[in-house]
Amino acid sequence: MIPRTVYEPEHEMFRESVRKFLETEAAPYHEQWEEDGQVDRALWNKAGEQGFLAPTVPEEYGGVGVDFRYNAIVDEECARSGLTGIGWGLHSDIAVPYIVRYGTEEQKQKYLPKCVSGEIVTAIAMTEPAAGSDLQGIKTTAIKDGDDYIINGSKTFITNGQHADLVVVVAKTDPSAGAKGTSLFLVEAGTPGFEKGKNLHKIGLKAQDTSELFFQDVRVPKEALLGEEGMGFVYLMQD
Ligand SMILES: Cc1cc2nc3c(=O)[nH]c(=O)nc-3n(C[C@H](O)[C@H](O)[C@H](O)COP(=O)(O)OP(=O)(O)OC[C@H]3O[C@@H](n4cnc5c(N)ncnc54)[C@H](O)[C@@H]3O)c2cc1C
Repeated sequence: MIPRTVYEPEHEMFRESVRKFLETEAAPYHEQWEEDGQVDRALWNKAGEQGFLAPTVPEEYGGVGVDFRYNAIVDEECARSGLTGIGWGLHSDIAVPYIVRYGTEEQKQKYLPKCVSGEIVTAIAMTEPAAGSDLQGIKTTAIKDGDDYIINGSKTFITNGQHADLVVVVAKTDPSAGAKGTSLFLVEAGTPGFEKGKNLHKIGLKAQDTSELFFQDVRVPKEALLGEEGMGFVYLMQD
């Protein structure tokens, strides 16, 4: 086997602590979680306490501010142990980095410390019943109404869908402008009109809460816009 040179000794120490944590806090319960269709929500908080969630988040927003290799180690250790239900990769490697990169100072202060601690579980809602690979074809809209936007549409196959406290929602702010009319919004669970649908039965990843999400006249303030209006598709292609 060719030895890997990508990791430094401090990364390997971190790996050891992730591995021990998973052995005691996740492996013994994973079979049950597969039956439940989701992992225990408390696992997220425990992982947050250990600094395993979104470790690249800068220190001023409550993170550890380390390099992406730490994320890769967490992903590798979950995979190595066959713990397929844990949705930390989607949270730490995909959704949270959108807030770090495109969030306003206010959004970062409000959400990032809780994303690191595990108080907030994130998801990203792109896919719809009739739009998967062809993301330009999404039908969800976010139409301006005074200082607010009104979101309508359905999403499906959303990782962390049941546990999600905060969802990056992809919606058309200008349905006539194709990809150029696409924007991203930060929508909090509990916002009136935002409902979590079925936790989907899958042939694998049975402990992962891959779900439907529904948005019916969901009113969000303009402060929920992530990045610039109309730039959503560009952001999705860049990250
Ligand atoms: C476990 C799981 C977790 C997921 N998590 C998320 C999530 O967190 N957020 C989210 O937004 N989505 C999520 N998805 C959805 C995922 O992003 C979509 O499944 C994916 O984009 C493909 O879309 P689709 O399933 O509609 O397949 P389709 O787009 O209908 O594609 C079906 C097949 O046709 C092929 N195909 C499509 N277009 C073409 C073409 N032009 N030329 C040739 N072949 C083509 C595809 O390669 C594929 O084999 C998840 C899916 C799964 C299974």
